[in-house]
Amino acid sequence: MPKLTIGVDVPWVTSWSGEPVLGVAPCPSIDGGLAIGQALSPGQGEPLFASNHLFRQRKSVRELGCPMCGEPTADGDRWSQTARWSTAAEVRAKGLGAWLPADFRDDRPLLDAGAIAPMHRACAERARTACPHLAALPGQALTAFPAAWIVVPLTVEARPHAVYANVPQRGVAAVTFLQLIGVPDDAGG
Ligand SMILES: [Zn+2]
Repeated sequence: MPKLTIGVDVPWVTSWSGEPVLGVAPCPSIDGGLAIGQALSPGQGEPLFASNHLFRQRKSVRELGCPMCGEPTADGDRWSQTARWSTAAEVRAKGLGAWLPADFRDDRPLLDAGAIAPMHRACAERARTACPHLAALPGQALTAFPAAWIVVPLTVEARPHAVYANVPQRGVAAVTFLQLIGVPDDAGG
């Protein structure tokens, strides 16, 4: 098998089989908040194209680093093929309303990028050509990512071991991935 190059053959954000998921710990990707950790050894084992790496995903959304090449993106060069138009009402219906400003009208358009931060235009075009999943999507257009955005932490409840406890143990929320929502200028007034 030819050697795979990260950023060319394999997106920077992709997990590798040699990167086991670790426990809950404070994570610098979210300013020391509790998060699920994952070993950092990209290139070890096989790329797991369907799995984002937990730390790299959070870092990429938090810093708007390109998930393809891992480098920072600048205003005006942030593109997404997979983001889809949504509304404040839809985001609220998913239970994520706490992360939206209360004065956002229900019909305010938002660009839900899900877990995938926008890419450099060149990287997005390369990904579309190289990735069979992206090449097969009905939508081949690249959407410009807005200059404002909201980051929503997705969490799981991490429970302490309770082997000796006869009192129910309260879990703590630990962040898994970050969800990114673009906020276009409000045209509706
Ligand atoms: Zn890039």
